[in-house]
Amino acid sequence: MSMLACLSNGGGNLALKQMHFGGESFVVNTKSSCQIKVGDGCRIRFWYDKWCGSTCLKDEFPPLFNLSVDKEGSLQQFLARKTNDTDWNFNFRRALYTWELPDVSRLLSLLASAPSLTTGCVDCLVWNPATAGSGPFSASSLYSFSTSLLGPDLTITKFIWCNPLPPKVLFFGWLAWKNRVKTAVFLHNLGILGSNTSPYCIFCKSTPESANHALLHCPFSWSIWSAVLSGWGIQWCIPYSVADLFNWWLSRKLRDFIAKIWRAIPFVVLWSLWKHRNDCVFSNAHPNSVDLWELIKIRLAHWLKASIKDFPFSVSDLVCNWRNIRSFI
Ligand SMILES: [Zn+2]
Repeated sequence: MSMLACLSNGGGNLALKQMHFGGESFVVNTKSSCQIKVGDGCRIRFWYDKWCGSTCLKDEFPPLFNLSVDKEGSLQQFLARKTNDTDWNFNFRRALYTWELPDVSRLLSLLASAPSLTTGCVDCLVWNPATAGSGPFSASSLYSFSTSLLGPDLTITKFIWCNPLPPKVLFFGWLAWKNRVKTAVFLHNLGILGSNTSPYCIFCKSTPESANHALLHCPFSWSIWSAVLSGWGIQWCIPYSVADLFNWWLSRKLRDFIAKIWRAIPFVVLWSLWKHRNDCVFSNAHPNSVDLWELIKIRLAHWLKASIKDFPFSVSDLVCNWRNIRSFI
């Protein structure tokens, strides 16, 4: 059985690597430095697992590993074949040549300082106290440790993924935050769009379509954001990027259901802008900011109403009385 204790790093910069233990694969943070704590040796694979020193014996002694006929054997099985404290039986498929003996000596020397078995104690993964704390390794402890390294990014990732909106909407918000939206400029840079394809914004047709332009800076998009914020009596400066937008959005502290509406707004606007852009590009629709603003309010109202228990506002409260919502702030 293979178990993958996989951590989503939420778009952060954590480097992950795969670690093997007991025939299972774990995806761990390279900074976390898990290590194997030897118990009865039953779960530890002698050659594959990093139980003795900083590398696994398979990588440390490749010629000897290739000669072994018991590549999958556990540490406990290898120890059971010993005839005395120093006489290991590695089960090689042939007698060793002279030039292979130094490797065996080096292996025996390493094993002489290896951890001993503890009968009745199960082999397990533990954190390295020098780098990552203490206690047994688990998916939850890996998550706790890794999120502690995310810093400000953790706030944004929670802002995105803890929103009560459809996953496709949140995923698009995440793409926009990471500047991975497949705009004309993005696709031109990748070589997917040829030189005969216009890189200009479908809304204004005067500026190359980058993510920041299409979603924020284009006069068309800006008119939508202005409609959203003027209803709440807010004046602002246009942010440079979606990341700046999210940081500014989070700086406003609201409470209860008003906070839920506020935190959902940017994702609905971003997703609706992009969907409208696609309708214009692929279905020959014409940019229409009035209709789009109405559609954004309808989507916001229906999604929040459907996903938040005891949501106190009706769909018409949000669609027809947008300006009145601010009175609850
Ligand atoms: Zn534009």
